[in-house]
Amino acid sequence: MKLRLHNTLTKKKEEFKPLKEGSVKMYACGPTVYNYAHIGNLRTYIFEDILKRALFYNGFKVKHVMNVTDVGHLTGDRDMGEDKIETGAKREGKSAWEIAEYYTRTFKDDIKKLNILEPDILCKATDHIKEQIKMISALEKKGYAYKISDGMYFDTQKFSAYTKLSHKNLASLKEGARVEKNPEKRNATDFALWKFTPFGVKRQMEWDSPWGKGFPGWHIECSAMSVKYLGEQFDIHCGGIDHIDVHHTNELAQTEAATGKSPWVRFWLHGAFLNVSGGKKMAKSGGNFLTLENAVIKKGFNPLAYRFATLNTHYRKPMEYSEIAMVNAQNGLNHLYNQLRELRRKMRYNQSAGKAGRRRATAENASQEFKEKFLSAMNDDLNMPKALAVAQDLLKSKLPDKEKLAAILDFDRVFGLSFKEAIGKEEATPEEVKKLADEREAAREKKDWKKSDELRDKIKTLGYTVEDSGEGARIKKINTK
Ligand code: AMP
Ligand code: ZN
Repeated sequence: MKLRLHNTLTKKKEEFKPLKEGSVKMYACGPTVYNYAHIGNLRTYIFEDILKRALFYNGFKVKHVMNVTDVGHLTGDRDMGEDKIETGAKREGKSAWEIAEYYTRTFKDDIKKLNILEPDILCKATDHIKEQIKMISALEKKGYAYKISDGMYFDTQKFSAYTKLSHKNLASLKEGARVEKNPEKRNATDFALWKFTPFGVKRQMEWDSPWGKGFPGWHIECSAMSVKYLGEQFDIHCGGIDHIDVHHTNELAQTEAATGKSPWVRFWLHGAFLNVSGGKKMAKSGGNFLTLENAVIKKGFNPLAYRFATLNTHYRKPMEYSEIAMVNAQNGLNHLYNQLRELRRKMRYNQSAGKAGRRRATAENASQEFKEKFLSAMNDDLNMPKALAVAQDLLKSKLPDKEKLAAILDFDRVFGLSFKEAIGKEEATPEEVKKLADEREAAREKKDWKKSDELRDKIKTLGYTVEDSGEGARIKKINTK
């Protein structure tokens, strides 16, 4: 089953083929680092991580680039208002640079806790001012850019394919853009490429440019950095659905206009929102957003229970956060972990009882059926709820335990739910048992058989047995079934 992905550009599920056989170049819009990531943002990063892992599972190499917006994203989203980073700096009494550094670090911590593989390149907008200026200059030379009193703007009227990603008509996009009242702009949908530092203001982040001192517009960083690291044309671009109409539409227009090459990106993938309290989108600017720390970790949930919760909803369907949903997710994950531990225990028991291997000959082929089902669920536009159901069916099946475990650990390359670690954790012998076993060993050396037997019984009450072998005592967990 070949990998098929829903492409926003064509509004269809299409077979995915990279430009260069065997290797995929993918770009994802990253965090604006003026505050913690909320769990809605994290839902999108988990979806992108699943996409990347699915590509790996299908045998592709992946180069994954993500930007860190540390300048230029204005509170109005449409080139008006204050820079979000400078607002964050004022709020916390720190410098803009400190704010950006701090929230980049917390972003990295969060994604690590969620088993999201770090992008190969995580690039900051402020480290790429030169590249952004270069792209704006190219647009100016080709007649796409014009200057007004507060900055350099992109003339959307000149780019005829402006609506190709959103599939909306220009009038409705213009309507959406009218919230920003800038009478000097030629068209409501025109957007800033470079903004000037207002007269009499000293910004913390500002740079000289051929047009005047200022800072880049929000969209240009993604165009300039993706082209730098992935080339003028590449395979996949992704983000949340809120980016389709403005941010990604503008990125696309300016990049294709600057390079003259189309399509800039072959596959566009967008994840649906995480909502709260009856369908309201969780938003950073909303103020009362939920973070991994306050909505998950502090409430005693495993961050991976949140990952598990997101895997249970298809990435293109909206998902509702609630504490009850988190309780269910934690229970579901615990159940899965317990099933795996039980499986491992049974395997150990059977091995020590000499029952292993009897069905080994048939095992390889038997799990193949489940692997195929898993692959076809995942390759059908990342249908992870279905892929998880395949994992459950596998666990319930009559396959040999060894095969079940091998197959499910293989699926976890994509789930990223740390199955191996979860099994391992429980298998570690408690310190108390180890101490008693050492005491028993000492008693045996003194030939104090009575004490040795007493200690063996005590160890048994803790759920372990000690078996004496040529290489000393071996501690084993008692199989409770
Ligand atoms: P931001 O830091 O606001 O630029 O957003 C980072 C990523 O999170 C982008 O891909 C957004 O599209 C995505 N995003 C923002 N809000 C939500 C939400 N409520 N649910 C899911 N993804 C979101
Ligand atoms: Zn972007």
